[in-house]
Amino acid sequence: MNCLFCRIIAGEIPSNKVYEDESFLAFRDIDPQAPTHILIIPKTHYDSVLEAPGEVVGRMSGIAAKIAADEGIDNKGFRIVINTGEDGGQSVKHLHMHLLGGRSMEWPPG
Ligand code: 5GP
Ligand code: ZN
Repeated sequence: MNCLFCRIIAGEIPSNKVYEDESFLAFRDIDPQAPTHILIIPKTHYDSVLEAPGEVVGRMSGIAAKIAADEGIDNKGFRIVINTGEDGGQSVKHLHMHLLGGRSMEWPPG
């Protein structure tokens, strides 16, 4: 298995988990870009959002909203991002949603 996030799901690589159910895992990003920076991933491997059923993406956003509340960042707001492909800045080819919060964020991104 050469997918980094599949290896995290399998427990071969440690992660700082904040949420897990039978189909999804969420853990803190190793290189946080905000005070709260969490990655939400499906346990089923999809290369990107282009391959995933909409229901999966919908459940990921619901989990992100729940974690945002748990982290106390839902009041002032947060950002969820799915980088996709080369131009989208996707570096890990396993679908993941970034949850970023705890600071004000510029728009548009660079
Ligand atoms: P992408 O650039 O593909 O949208 O996001 C990949 C994210 O995975 C990056 O924010 C990067 O910091 C994070 N990341 C890469 N390797 C690891 C790791 O081994 N553990 C954790 N927790 N995050 C990682
Ligand atoms: Zn994978």
